[in-house]
Amino acid sequence: MNFEDTPQEAAFRAEARAWITANAPKQYEDELRKSSLGRTRLEGANVLEVAKAWQKKKADAGWACLHWPKDYGGRGSSPIERVIWQQEEGAFGKLSAMFIIGHGMCGPTMMAFASEEQKRHYLPPLASGENVWCQLFSEPSAGSDVAGLRTRAEKRGDDWIVNGQKIWTSGAHYSDYGILLTRTDPTAPKHKGLTMFFLDMKSPGVEVRPIKQASGQSDFNEVYFSDVKIPDAQRLGNVNDGWNVALTTLMNERMSIGAGVATGFPELFEFCNNLMLEDGLAIDDRNVRSKLANWAVRASGLKYTSLRAISALSKGERPGPENSIGKLVAGAMIQEVAMFALDLEGAAGVLNGPEAELAGKFQAMLLRAPGTRVEGGTDEIMRNIIAERVLGLPGDVRVDKDLPFNQIPTKGRA
Ligand SMILES: Cc1cc2nc3c(=O)[nH]c(=O)nc-3n(C[C@H](O)[C@H](O)[C@H](O)COP(=O)(O)OP(=O)(O)OC[C@H]3O[C@@H](n4cnc5c(N)ncnc54)[C@H](O)[C@@H]3O)c2cc1C
Repeated sequence: MNFEDTPQEAAFRAEARAWITANAPKQYEDELRKSSLGRTRLEGANVLEVAKAWQKKKADAGWACLHWPKDYGGRGSSPIERVIWQQEEGAFGKLSAMFIIGHGMCGPTMMAFASEEQKRHYLPPLASGENVWCQLFSEPSAGSDVAGLRTRAEKRGDDWIVNGQKIWTSGAHYSDYGILLTRTDPTAPKHKGLTMFFLDMKSPGVEVRPIKQASGQSDFNEVYFSDVKIPDAQRLGNVNDGWNVALTTLMNERMSIGAGVATGFPELFEFCNNLMLEDGLAIDDRNVRSKLANWAVRASGLKYTSLRAISALSKGERPGPENSIGKLVAGAMIQEVAMFALDLEGAAGVLNGPEAELAGKFQAMLLRAPGTRVEGGTDEIMRNIIAERVLGLPGDVRVDKDLPFNQIPTKGRA
């Protein structure tokens, strides 16, 4: 591992830093720095609008979607340059949250399977944030096992007619387009009868219903499809080959979720340095110090695991399924850290507004953490990936893999 920039990387870093210093929306820097996992609030401003304006400014100057080809709105940068940009963008990068799915998953899927004309039409406004995209995969009974989905697409002339329901669709309520995985052949085994499309979220028959979360926010939705018409030209990949298309999306999902791992440790460390308990500063308490030491070790393990992935990128290698380790360890850690911070706050820990300690930073973390442990693959699924693909242990038992989908027992469900 070599953590030093090469001369070329150092030059790129300097150029990125200079542009960010001159152009970033500095009036929001403090608030963005303070905003924790799960909540970005900007006083007197609409986060969506601020995020879109920053993305457009980056795109106009050639700093959006760095790793995408220039023809599609990117910069044609190397993966390591993308990492350097993220390091330099710092707190302003939090404004990219609403674009992660579009840039990290939908864009790469379009790039691999859409026609050249479609790529030139749809990708630049996706890169610049003018259009937001969502990922319509999970259903009420198809999450970890997404190949078990039931939303049907039936061919009628040059169109497909879609009926069914998706759930947990992040950002569907402000999305312009989505990529949609459907079942087109229920007589084939579950992975073999699927087809992928992209669609305009304003199409007649698409109904988006926001889900209210414990935090009071609504970040994701149920999406219902009633006789939604999608032209065959918007099919991605071959009919019944949607699983292969979905694998491209899911591989990119793991890469973008694994890329940045928040642990909550720096925030907790700072908090303990300032918090006065009955008998002195929290940082001087033996129990607090012992907990902090354990988390410091874990945070440092994560840091070096992530640096190892960055070092691989720098050498032109692709990070492997080891990225799952970051998501698994950090997801659990952030939940433990937030719970501990609320314990330290005592009775004040129940407050959850601007009057709470650090404006409710740890409360927001605690309420978001379970979602972090589920999205993009649950803890158990991450463990399966690590067991099978990193450690080479025997595969999970998949009893229904080769059965025709319509013969899989459903306990009476249609
Ligand atoms: C914050 C958030 C955002 C999301 N955004 C999107 C989105 O934009 N688009 C989208 O399509 N989906 C999205 N999802 C859905 C997400 O992909 C699914 O929730 C996830 O894959 C888990 O599926 P599930 O909820 O159906 O749980 P299930 O798959 O039903 O799992 C239930 C439990 O069983 C365990 N389990 C399941 N299979 C196995 C196994 N083989 N071995 C061991 N244990 C197992 C799980 O770990 C879990 O504990 C989002 C979810 C969250 C929380």
